[in-house]
Amino acid sequence: MIDIEENIRHIQSILPDSTALVAVSKYHPANCIRQAYATGQRIFGESRTQEMLAKQQELKDLPDIEWHFIGTLQRNKVKYIAPFVSLIHSVDSIELLREINKQGARFQRVIPCLLELHVAKETSKSGFSTDECLTVLNEGEWRNMQYVQICGIMCMATYTTDQKQIAQEFDKANSFFQMAKEQFFSNNDHFRIRSWGMSGDYSIALEHGSNMVRIGTGIFGDREY
Ligand SMILES: *Cc1c(COP(=O)(O)O)cnc(C)c1O
Repeated sequence: MIDIEENIRHIQSILPDSTALVAVSKYHPANCIRQAYATGQRIFGESRTQEMLAKQQELKDLPDIEWHFIGTLQRNKVKYIAPFVSLIHSVDSIELLREINKQGARFQRVIPCLLELHVAKETSKSGFSTDECLTVLNEGEWRNMQYVQICGIMCMATYTTDQKQIAQEFDKANSFFQMAKEQFFSNNDHFRIRSWGMSGDYSIALEHGSNMVRIGTGIFGDREY
């Protein structure tokens, strides 16, 4: 039996107060989200737009719930989540950022976003290389996007048991974050989120700069695809 309440309590007892917990509820039904919500959990992460929209509709009675989008986001799907999403973790192209800005304008809301860095070995994982991300920041188009707020950096480490490898990848993201903070966001209090760490590697993430962890299996148990 999965004890969602006990799992959240356990994770919260490990996390520093300054670290946010995203409960990754993808592939789990709305009633699991209700159970987590009842323990005080407010931030939920989803990776598919239709699933997120359906759950958001179903759970409208939970007033201060926050929906974070963490999966690969297709440009033509941004419109479905733009009216309510609290944070998009997975911005991996300037074209996607433009579309988010466009939909933000349409729904008259500023949409908080993270830039996703590709630090893992697997080529299947998405995100900007550090060079690409730096180019986007240097080119500066984002500065004129009124409906996008860039709030930090997200990454996923390689799926491996090699803890040193994982630590190196988080360090790479953390160094990039610090550089970007200094070079581009020194006068911007919003740029402060370092989203890394999942069920298998969040304790490493906490020692390597994370202040937002995204945990699914460790809260809700295995997913059924
Ligand atoms: C599914 C997912 C998670 C959570 O993974 P767990 O191993 O179940 O904790 C975190 N981040 C992203 C981007 C995901 O897609």
